[in-house]
Amino acid sequence: MRNRTKLVLIASVAGFAALPRPAAAYVRTTTSTGIPIAWKAPCVKIEFSLGDPPPELKAAGYLDAATQAGAAWSNASLDGVDRCTNVIFTVESFSSVAGPVGMDYHNRLIFRQNSWCRDPPPTDPNEPDCYDPSALAITTVFQLRNTGEILDTDLEFNATDYTWSDYVGHPDQFGYLTQDFQGALTHEFGHVIGLDHTCVSPGTSSDRWPVDNNGNLVPACSSGNLPATITGATMYVSVASPSAEVELRSLSPDDVQGACDIYPFTSNFVCVAPTKAQASSGCSYAAQPGRGAIVWVLAFLVLATIRRRR
Ligand SMILES: [Zn+2]
Repeated sequence: MRNRTKLVLIASVAGFAALPRPAAAYVRTTTSTGIPIAWKAPCVKIEFSLGDPPPELKAAGYLDAATQAGAAWSNASLDGVDRCTNVIFTVESFSSVAGPVGMDYHNRLIFRQNSWCRDPPPTDPNEPDCYDPSALAITTVFQLRNTGEILDTDLEFNATDYTWSDYVGHPDQFGYLTQDFQGALTHEFGHVIGLDHTCVSPGTSSDRWPVDNNGNLVPACSSGNLPATITGATMYVSVASPSAEVELRSLSPDDVQGACDIYPFTSNFVCVAPTKAQASSGCSYAAQPGRGAIVWVLAFLVLATIRRRR
């Protein structure tokens, strides 16, 4: 059973955007009741379907990019400490082309090349069969409703309307419809470990306006004069150019603080498998052309619903 939770807009929140924010502010994804979501043990194995990858890069190139995206989070370093988090991303490639999104304890990474539609189709007639074509990727996170424990994630990349490549290695391939896979995936991996955007997009669906780790209201993305701590984060909602998209590959201090606060490094860390599913939430991001052919804007948009599954 799925319920749709309508966004409650708080217009006055936009005014907070211009206020200075404390250092090391990050935003966590929460359940509909406000519980931050997290893995019990952040050992995330990504199963990457590479049977038919988009043509710009060979399969090995995509696999390497995904490995590097995971390493950005796993190797988060803070205050001179080489590694400050227990987050461990591993990426394994599979010959299968695609698979359904579902709560099956398999963290799938899929290129949707034939259609940018839900697989399986939604059971709720109020939900559209296909995603917004401007959405580049969607990460669906399944978590326990009562505790927020993340159980499973699935990442779908829109290879129907866009192509994916390596901007650093092949800048000649880039145009509006070509995206930097590693940068985008680093952002999506942030959602996988329970981080949300550093600002709130229009259309965000939530019972309450998000707050950051310091308890401050998260500014609206449409607000002017957002500080660099927000706009420079991998978990920021957009980038202005292909080179800026590449910068998503490197975590900002705020991104690092999030990974290391939620999953602090411990020498005796042991991976533990999660247990059962009750709920899910989704996130997507989208690309939008700016004014002029050379202006790039990637708008990372939270999917319009928080889905609950019983
Ligand atoms: Zn996002």
